Amino acid sequence: NTFAEIDLGEALNLNIQRCKYVKPTPVQRNAIPILAAGRDLMACAQTGSGKTAAFCFPIISGIMKEQQHVERPRGVRGVYPLAVILSPTRELACQIHDEARKFSYQTGVKVVVAYGGTPVNQQIRELERGVDILVATPGRLNDLLERGRVSLQMVKYLALDEADRMLDMGFEPQIRKIVQQMDMPPPGVRQTMLFSATFPREIQRLASDFLSNYIFLAV
Ligand code: AMP
Repeated sequence: NTFAEIDLGEALNLNIQRCKYVKPTPVQRNAIPILAAGRDLMACAQTGSGKTAAFCFPIISGIMKEQQHVERPRGVRGVYPLAVILSPTRELACQIHDEARKFSYQTGVKVVVAYGGTPVNQQIRELERGVDILVATPGRLNDLLERGRVSLQMVKYLALDEADRMLDMGFEPQIRKIVQQMDMPPPGVRQTMLFSATFPREIQRLASDFLSNYIFLAV
C-alpha cells in the first residue's frame, strides 16, 4: 500500500516523496480513497494519526484537477476560496497551513491561513493575493464574512478538523453560520469531511446536518 497507487496527481505525489511519507497511515489509507471518490466522510482520528494529510491530499488533488476549469468572480464580495479547513485554534490552523503549503508546492494551489487575535488587515491583503484553500478559525472566518472580504459561494470542499474541540470551545454558532453561507443559492456540490476524536450526540447532529450520505470511518 503506497501513495502512488492512489491517483493524486504527479505534483502532489512528488511533494509526498519530498515529505518522506513512504506508507500511508491507517486513517490515510482508508480516508483518502473515500474522499478521492467524492464521498462525504466522518472520521475518528486522534492527533498524530496523520489526519492532516488525509484531508489535505484529496482537497489539493481535487483542486489541481479542476483548477483550469474554475472561473471565479473577483472583487464583488471579496475572494472566493474553493476549499475551507476549519480548525479550533490558531496553533492548529498554523500547523495545517504549514503542512498544506508543503503538500501544494508547485501545484498552483494557493493556501492562506486566517485566525483571530491579530490584526485582520494583513490577512485580508494576503487573501486578496489569491486563495484556493483557506485554513481558518471559525471566529475569524465569520469576521471576514461580515466584512465582505470572503465569499463561500464557490467552496467545493469543507473540512472540519477536531470538530469536538471546536464545539467544546463554543464555536457551534459560528460554524453553522459559515456552512449556511456555503448552502446559499445557487447550491453547488460540496464535499464535507468531519474529523473528530470523540463522537458525542452534538457531533452526530452536526454530521447529519452538514454531511450527505456520508461514510463513517473508525480506525
Ligand atoms: P497529524 O496527525 O496530521 O498531526 O500528523 C502527525 C505527524 O505525522 C505529522 O508530523 C506528519 O507530518 C506526520 N505524518 C503524517 N502522515 C505520515 C506518513 N504517511 N508517513 C510519515 N509521517 C507522516
